[in-house]
Amino acid sequence: MSETADLVITNGTVVTETATFEASLAARDGVITAIGAASEMPPAAETIDASGLHILPGIIDVHVHFREPGMTHKEDWATGSRAAAMGGVTTVFEMPNTNPPVSNVEGYTLKRGLADEKSIVDFGIYGVILDDNLADLAPLAEAGVIGYKLFLGNTTGNLPCPSDGAILEAFEILSRLGKRCSIHAENSPILFWREDRLKRAGRYDPVDHVLSRTDVVAVEALSKSCVFAEWTGARIHIVHESCASSLPYIRFFKDKGVDVTVETLPQYLLLALEDMDRPGGHVMRMNPPIRERAQQGPLRQAFAEGLIDMIATDHAPHLPEEKDGATIWDMACGFPGVETQVPLMLSLAAEGAFSLQRYVQASSAAPARAFGLYGTKGLIAPRADADLTLVDLGRKEVLSAERLSSRGKVSPFEGMSVTGWPVGTIVRGKAVMRDGEITAEAGWGQEVRQAMPEPAPRNAEKHLATLCGASPAPGQ
Ligand SMILES: [Zn+2]
Repeated sequence: MSETADLVITNGTVVTETATFEASLAARDGVITAIGAASEMPPAAETIDASGLHILPGIIDVHVHFREPGMTHKEDWATGSRAAAMGGVTTVFEMPNTNPPVSNVEGYTLKRGLADEKSIVDFGIYGVILDDNLADLAPLAEAGVIGYKLFLGNTTGNLPCPSDGAILEAFEILSRLGKRCSIHAENSPILFWREDRLKRAGRYDPVDHVLSRTDVVAVEALSKSCVFAEWTGARIHIVHESCASSLPYIRFFKDKGVDVTVETLPQYLLLALEDMDRPGGHVMRMNPPIRERAQQGPLRQAFAEGLIDMIATDHAPHLPEEKDGATIWDMACGFPGVETQVPLMLSLAAEGAFSLQRYVQASSAAPARAFGLYGTKGLIAPRADADLTLVDLGRKEVLSAERLSSRGKVSPFEGMSVTGWPVGTIVRGKAVMRDGEITAEAGWGQEVRQAMPEPAPRNAEKHLATLCGASPAPGQ
């Protein structure tokens, strides 16, 4: 006689990165305990009938900004994690450009406490790399950061870009820790220079934001990051790839064996500069910019074939008034996304842009692999966490900013019709969202357990730690 389950989901269509099949699932103590026919499922405390629904491995978004501590008028861990749950997302990795930033163990511990208390989805917390916190990188790893964030471009919170010297030494340190560094790959000296010249020439249009950050700004930063990663053996992840010109470089560095993964965002696959006049188009300003329509085809192709490994959102909420400015230069950069990724990407899959299995790979398996979660997350298998996203592939909806759970009620996808909708979000065997209702208490979310492969440093005999000892704390 089989044990009782906490949750049984019957008669769904399970989709993994390699297969699609009819099945029922049982979960107990947070993990999947059985996959098979409905008649083989044990009795359960809770049963969900998934007839007509597809069951995906829980969606992992490796790039969100929940703004807490410090900017809670934009978002906090309660509103941000509810937005994630509403969007079918079971795990988020949260960025360190909060106030205070996560630049040392104290900052990490503060944010970890807030997330523990408030989040209803599982989470990882990034640490930041700055000129003056190299001595904090190893303690941050020990404390439990999921990885590091390097802002080469400017950012909300105005964290300065480290010097190339500091970046190379940071990569040397990271190569020995083994954790991945997520990189905002834009060259900030170039973009600030161009922005200044354009402003002084009296140019204030949306296209000028794109021109200030024209393709070379991204290509240079991507290439430098990969060269440093190759030399040191650091693992890197390029966030929000927006640029068709980057694609041959990504292929080149991957072929050379650099441990680089790449994400793109729904807005780069679905929106273009030419959409600036559509409803919601005025909030499109973000970094890197949403570029010319001609870039969309190559990006979609690279995503479909896996050259771009994964989909994330750069969920970056701001209040509507912060997105209103006299000119393009006065508008806050970014907008919410964690809630709309699943329907937007399911719609692209429905149009044939890529297969549903490729979407599962890009939204769950690939992020889990890159950040050392695969096995507990990123798959549907016995003993894996029972993290599941239930979707109705036939459901048609219209997106609107007003419907968002996020505090930042702005969306460039305003009025967009989608086919495919998340109807259930299961985190470690517990439904945190069912049919558009939040069904979990604050604090259900847990920090993820990470197991990265062995570190693989290169040129270690030339690392500054080998030559000079560990990097000193500032002032020492
Ligand atoms: Zn971001």
